[in-house]
Amino acid sequence: MKDDDIKRLRSLYPRLWRHDLTRLPDGWTAIIEKLMAALNEIQTPIKGQYGSPLFVLIQSSGGFAVAFASPNPELGNWTPEKSHAVIEALRQFNAATSESCEICGSPSVIVAQERDGGPQHRLCQRHNEEQLAKYEGRVLQ
Ligand SMILES: [Zn+2]
Repeated sequence: MKDDDIKRLRSLYPRLWRHDLTRLPDGWTAIIEKLMAALNEIQTPIKGQYGSPLFVLIQSSGGFAVAFASPNPELGNWTPEKSHAVIEALRQFNAATSESCEICGSPSVIVAQERDGGPQHRLCQRHNEEQLAKYEGRVLQ
């Protein structure tokens, strides 16, 4: 994630922000922002209360990501409807990351592994071709 995006998201959603989100790929920043906006709207942090009404964890590796959330019943006004809305926001995040290029956010077409056992990446057609050209020593125009 780019520094400007880190600063912006940390400022917009201080109670949802976690440092490990900085490791998520640039192409998924808009998806992460959409999740944070949805979660923040479902249960807005209450002024004067320390802590977040919602704990969010995103696990990401090898072209896949999954988000988890745990509402804090001590903070906020939780209802079954809000809980269901959290589940739906997580579902949308998980679906969107499984369909989007890690580099640019365009629709992904492949999960490709770097040579020599490097990590896998979810890529669009253009970025997959660029990766292939890099490994093959070709130059794309
Ligand atoms: Zn791409």
